[in-house]
Order: sequence, then C-alpha cells, then structure tokens
Amino acid sequence: MGWRGFRLLASQMAGALLGWWLWTWFGDARASAAAQGVAALSGAFVAGWIWWLADSWNAMRLLSWLRQSELTNAPDLNGIWGEASVRMRRWLRQSVQQVQQGDQRLNDILSALQASPNGVVLLDAEGRIEWCNQIAERQFGFDAQRDVLQSLGNLVRDPEFSAYYAAQDFSRDLVMQGRESTPSRPVRLSVQLYGYGEGRKLLLARDVTALEQAEAMRRDFVANVSHEIRTPLTVLVGFVETLQTLPLEPEERNRYLGLMAQQAERMQHLVEDLLALSRLEGSPLPSANEWVSVSHLMQRCENEARGLSAMLTRKQAQPHALSFPPADVLAEAGEVAGASAELQSAFSNLLANAMRYTPAGGRIEVTWQTQPDGSARFAVKDSGPGIDPKHLARLTERFYRVDRSRSRDTGGTGLGLAIVKHVLQRHGAKLGIASTPGQGSEFSVTFPASRIRVGTVAAQAPALRAERRAA
Ligand code: ADP
Repeated sequence: MGWRGFRLLASQMAGALLGWWLWTWFGDARASAAAQGVAALSGAFVAGWIWWLADSWNAMRLLSWLRQSELTNAPDLNGIWGEASVRMRRWLRQSVQQVQQGDQRLNDILSALQASPNGVVLLDAEGRIEWCNQIAERQFGFDAQRDVLQSLGNLVRDPEFSAYYAAQDFSRDLVMQGRESTPSRPVRLSVQLYGYGEGRKLLLARDVTALEQAEAMRRDFVANVSHEIRTPLTVLVGFVETLQTLPLEPEERNRYLGLMAQQAERMQHLVEDLLALSRLEGSPLPSANEWVSVSHLMQRCENEARGLSAMLTRKQAQPHALSFPPADVLAEAGEVAGASAELQSAFSNLLANAMRYTPAGGRIEVTWQTQPDGSARFAVKDSGPGIDPKHLARLTERFYRVDRSRSRDTGGTGLGLAIVKHVLQRHGAKLGIASTPGQGSEFSVTFPASRIRVGTVAAQAPALRAERRAA
C-alpha cells in the first residue's frame, strides 16, 4: 500500500478540490454545501479513475515489454511498475548470464570430449545418439549432425557388437573390428558402454590395434624363444641319455661331447642375444655428446673379423679375402656420436654375418665414407650367396631367417639383424640392404651429419698406420 496508496489518495484529494473549485467557479456559487460536496466527490471519483487508467497503462507497457522476445528495451516507468521493471531486468540479466555460463560449461565439456583420443558417443535413455566426437565418427562411420537421435543399434551393424548390445551386460568391453579395417591394415577397437544420468549411456571406443599387435608379437616371441631353446635342449638330452646308457668308445664319446658343447654354445649365444636386445630396449638412448673414434671402432672390427674368419675357414683351403678402410681414410673419418659398445656390436654383427654366409675364399670388403653432406656411411660388402629380394623387408624381424638350417649351422640365432636395427634406430642411423642372389650382399649403415665429427683425429694418422702394421 504505502506510497502507492498515498499517491492515489493525493490524486483523489486533488480531484475533489478541483471538482469543488470548478463548481464554485463555473456553477452556482450560492449552491448548497451538499451540492459542493457532491462536486468534490465527483472530482475525487474522476481523479481515481484517471489514476487507475494511468496505472493500468504502465502495467500494460511492462507486460507488453515482458511479452517481447527482445528484452533489452525496457520501458522507463515510475513508481511500483518502474521498480518491478528494474527488478525484472536484473533478474532476467542474471538468468541470461546463468544460461550463458551453463552453455559455456557444456561447450567446454564437449570440447574436452572432442579432444579425447578415444571415440565418445552419448546416448539417450532409448539408446539414440545425442552427441559423438570426431574420433567416433571415424571409428563407426557416424555423421555427428545427420545421425543425431538415430538408434545406435541400427547404425552399428557389426554382429559382435549387436550381440553385445542386445545382451545389455556392459561390465566388460568388447574387442571388435574397426570400420576402417582392411586385411593389410587391421584395426581393432575396444568398445564399452557406461551408464550415467537417468538411463543414459556413454560409449567409449579405444583403438587397441597397436596393443593387440604388441601382444601378438610378445606371444610369437615367447613361442620362438621356446622353440629355439627346445631344439638344442632336445639334442643335448638325447646325447646325455646316449652317454649314460651306451658303452661308447672314447673317440665316439669325445665326438658326442663336442656336439653337446656346440648345442650348449648355441643356447648361450641365444641367451646373450636376448639379453642384448632386452638391454637395448630397457636402457636410455645413447648420448649425442659421447664421441667414439671411428678408427678405433674399425680397428676392433678388423681384429674380431680376422679372428672369426680364421676360425670359420680353418678347415678350408682358402680363408676369406678381407679388406678394411686404409689408415688414411680412417684418420679422416673422425668420430661418431653414440655408445661405443652398441656401435661395436652392430658393426660386428654385420661383419659376422658376411663371414658366416660367405664361403671360404669369398671376398668381404668393409668401407667407411664421409659424404659431402657431412653424413657417413659404413658398409660391409660380401661375395656370398646373396638374398632373394622377397626376404629383404623382413630380415630385421626377430628370428626371421632366409635359410633356417644354414643359419643354425653357422651358429646364428636369428636375432643379429634385429639387434643391428635396434642399435641404429637408437643412433638415428639407417640400415640399407642391397643384395643380388648369387652375387653377394651389401649391408650399409648411414649416420646423419649431426652424429659425425670430422677433423679432431687427423693428427693421429701416423700413429694409426703404425698400429695397423703392428697388428
Ligand atoms: P642369423 O643369426 O640367422 O644370421 P640375422 O638376424 O643375423 O640372423 O640374419 C637374418 C637372416 O638374414 C639370416 O638368417 C640370413 O638368412 C640372412 N643374412 C644376413 N646376413 C647375410 C649375408 N651377409 N648374406 C646372406 N644372407 C644374410
């Protein structure tokens, strides 16, 4: 009531006064007091009406403003309607802000889901798609705009998924074939649904192709290792039983012991190579600031190679014809950045292969060349049997052999080139294999310029030459 009642009362009093005044002015000034009272009352009545009309007009203006969808141009009102309009404007502004903040939060959440590396699909209580991110679009072939409110069960027709979805047991995930899967590039997806809200569901799809491949590789690896160890073990057990049960001549006994030693040695090589691989996988990358002298590396390779060649060809008429880079070349070769032991093992593996697969009398040539762009190339070229091109791409796989029996006969484990590849990867170097069946092979290693430092050992040339002569 308050101010509003006062204003009504004031306007009625003013009306009454005006009515009385008009009556006395224009009417009969000598009229009775009763007539004057009636005039004042009529004035008050008319003033009340006018006040009511003005008040209703203001209320109408406020209402029509509220009815507009555009709420910015609020009417300029006084009194109670003015206050109502101000308060409503404030309240509306707050509501709009709250809605905007809510929208912003929703957009942020959707952006986060969009940035997820996994496919995300939001489903309503009827299993219809409400939203999905781009990864899910790709994984399932959805269209985020077109497929909104489409039933998930109708869109994903994979029988495995249909059975999983129909069973409604989402306590475990389903691993299914991805839509982009091809025989040469299989894609495996792990899909799981999670409930949230009132009957809604969230579908998460994770690409597990790499994981599955790693798991398959691990299984193959274990099977290969078991096979590689079981073969010499079986032979050893056989010989042990023979020695235990048969009365053998000393000569025959020694022959058997020799064969047993060979098998034990084979197992030892295998274990050593496995340990080398696991060390490479588990150790930090070699430093790029540790410099290894190329001439020292080559010197050690040469010493090892000559020893191995002598051993391999000791019963043959002719040894291998070995050739190594001359001291002058090595003196200019400088240094290579990396782990000395790893580089040595990689080079030795390539050299050992060349000697093991090249028959006695064959040629093996080792070269080191610094290229004009600053990179350097180490190569081992042999005149051995060569390799059919169809095998080349798989040679560095663990336990891959072109000729299983030949590899075993020469003491191979099938891990040599896998170790080489691993070492080279760790040094930013590339392995090249060129081979022609019947003519020989060349295994080369190219180090990037960033790993080569030339010039610091040039002064060692005379000392190197002397060292060579002495060797
Ligand atoms: P392995 O221990 O069997 O030699 P590697 O990984 O060192 O295993 O080599 C893989 C295969 O590559 C070998 O089994 C062999 O068939 C082939 N190979 C490697 N080096 C040569 C070479 N210099 N000449 C011919 N074949 C080679």
